[in-house]
Amino acid sequence: MQDDLQKLIKMVDQDGPLKNWVKSETIGEVSFKNKTYRIPVFTIGSMDPEHPILFMTGGVHGIERVGAQLAWSLLKTTLDRLVWDTSLQELFTHIRLVVVPLLNPVGYYNFKRCNGNDVDLMRNSPVVAVEKTPFLLGGHRYSKILPWYQGDVGSMELENKALYDCFMKSCGLSRCVISIDFHSGFGMKDRLWFPHSYTRKPFSEIAEMHAFTRLLEKTHPYHIYKIEPQSDGYLLNGDIWDHLFLELKLKNPKSIYLPLTLEMGSWTWVRKNPLQLFSRQGIFNPIKEHRLKRTYRRHHLLYDFMLKALRSHGAWTDHDPAIQQRHFNSGIERWYGKQDIQAP
Ligand SMILES: [Zn+2]
Repeated sequence: MQDDLQKLIKMVDQDGPLKNWVKSETIGEVSFKNKTYRIPVFTIGSMDPEHPILFMTGGVHGIERVGAQLAWSLLKTTLDRLVWDTSLQELFTHIRLVVVPLLNPVGYYNFKRCNGNDVDLMRNSPVVAVEKTPFLLGGHRYSKILPWYQGDVGSMELENKALYDCFMKSCGLSRCVISIDFHSGFGMKDRLWFPHSYTRKPFSEIAEMHAFTRLLEKTHPYHIYKIEPQSDGYLLNGDIWDHLFLELKLKNPKSIYLPLTLEMGSWTWVRKNPLQLFSRQGIFNPIKEHRLKRTYRRHHLLYDFMLKALRSHGAWTDHDPAIQQRHFNSGIERWYGKQDIQAP
């Protein structure tokens, strides 16, 4: 992966046709066992701070390597296409794509879920659950030798600080942001989760989330995703996307922000190749080359849909109050059961 990312950085930095469209930077450097790893970010398209943004991340959990590989693959295709595809160039004059393909390089290269300090980056933000979380799994501060360790109180790990700064700098003034964070875990289905993790209460973008979901269902009726709030599974302390959502809305209350997590169901890979169960990596990743390639192909439709939905975000966000209210009611009914909740 290091070589693959390095190749992309070279491709962007050389004096070529991508020069006007893409820039690459380093948002942080982490050290582990005498080695230093860089965390790169790629920014593509419009630099207008108010333009809509797709913010894509992979490799938050190092062992779920397929997440970083998928982010890299989507990024590479985009860069290759930008060289010749004038319709894509046109699209990117109206929107921005920000990609952090590998947030936790120490975890990735050392086959660890956590970072070099044994902290689970998805449990490490200051957000505290307001309802009961599952023992250990929901995040804890007992000991770093146990999984799902949250790290020290009141300070985020370097990787999360770098992500926070990069996210707020690029998305802080945007009218409409979708972020997607690639993970893999148990289950047969590919799930798209949206906030919150710290409470079962509906998040404030429920009308827009419902409008976005309906648009996806209408456009691609046979899509493969199960779309649901993260809190349908279990609650978490320190979810970084809860934190970024709350912070962005505080800074820019008028913005629309949908933070999505793609949890790729790994049982489909394990089912076809049960021996994978005996390898720690195999539980979370497709091992056979052709299944990895199929995974790359599988999510292109969603990626393309998100870019187009951002370009035309007015079509699903600028509704009159009556339609907005209908989306709100339908969202509540669909994801939270019938609840007596007023639109925000
Ligand atoms: Zn994960």
